[in-house]
Amino acid sequence: MTYQAGPGGFSTISPFTYEALPTRVLFGSGTRAQVAAEAARLDLSRVLVLHGPPHAGVARQCESELGARYAGTFDGARMHTPVEVTEIALEQVAKQRIDGILAIGGGSTTGLAKAIALRTDLPQIVLPTTYAGSEMTPILGETRDGLKTTLRSLKVLPETVIYDIDLTMDLPAALSGVSGMNAMAHAVEALYARDANPIVQALALQSVRALARALPVISEQPLHREARGDALYGAWLAGICLGTVGMALHHKLCHTLGGTFGLPHAETHAVILPHALAYNAPAIPEVMRQLCEALDVTHDAPAALHAINRKIGAPAGLSALGMASDGISRAVELALANPYWNPRALARDELMQLITDAWRGDAPRSYPGTD
Ligand code: NAD
Repeated sequence: MTYQAGPGGFSTISPFTYEALPTRVLFGSGTRAQVAAEAARLDLSRVLVLHGPPHAGVARQCESELGARYAGTFDGARMHTPVEVTEIALEQVAKQRIDGILAIGGGSTTGLAKAIALRTDLPQIVLPTTYAGSEMTPILGETRDGLKTTLRSLKVLPETVIYDIDLTMDLPAALSGVSGMNAMAHAVEALYARDANPIVQALALQSVRALARALPVISEQPLHREARGDALYGAWLAGICLGTVGMALHHKLCHTLGGTFGLPHAETHAVILPHALAYNAPAIPEVMRQLCEALDVTHDAPAALHAINRKIGAPAGLSALGMASDGISRAVELALANPYWNPRALARDELMQLITDAWRGDAPRSYPGTD
């Protein structure tokens, strides 16, 4: 009798390394009521609350629940974590003798919490309100003099993450869609990571299933509670993937496009994903088969992702995000400038096609097989 490798092609004897990250996670509806208990668990007595403009009300609630453990609030977080903002927040940390952080918001607010933790080692509790997934990673991107650099350190990994589905209910439909595709990108790239492993692969496929099912529904019915729950669950899993294994072409391109052309984070991820996956497809046939299964299509996973983009009303292309056409060749040069691992070798002509297609908002093309 022939014995075949299990679903995913991993046989139990294929060697791999897996390292779990030690974040405590609470998931559900109304879970923000646990903030004070979690602060007590971490033995925090002077908590600084970080939040953005949409979450002033939730922040006031959390401050009052924290009671005597509440020490101050900072609402100045900005996209891409500028170091000058971190420095202002650090002055407050010192002045108010802060011993822990509560961050309420998307990747920008979480980024500030992580930047403070990097410099102080303060414990963090994070209440995510988007699907960006930063809360599950030991990664911090910071901007100094307009240049964004990324580092990995366990110091920035939040101690506790409280996922409260209620906090995502008012995330606007359009932002929900692209933020969800940002999460989808973490899961997709985890499937073909150089250090992929069966645990992360299982989480990634589950994440793709949950997000693919939920995002089109949320776009039509933003208050659909089950779909919101699935999307947040998928985003959590995708965040674990991002934090555990290395990313490739898709994330590198988005990092370059965001940093160099100032394109918005989630929208850029949504636009690039089908094209980056199509580019890598010839090198990863087994991943493509698994992705089709998870996306519930018989073939052409990049086309299925493109179709989800259309359903959620993602921006048509990089041009719609404000990138000028003369940026295309610059983006290609930047993508080739610092070599990094990718399942398929980077070829200038084909990268030009990829970014041009993404710029125009065309459907992803098929690329020839690898040699
Ligand atoms: P964001 O945090 O900037 O939020 C986008 C906008 O949505 C903001 O205006 C915010 O106020 C608003 N918003 C957030 N939640 C809302 C809600 N529930 N209702 C209404 N409005 C809401 O954007 P993001 O996409 O969450 O995060 C992007 C940032 O996170 C980038 O700087 C990116 O580099 C970083 N990031 C880092 C990692 C990592 O692992 N280090 C991972 C993903 C993203």
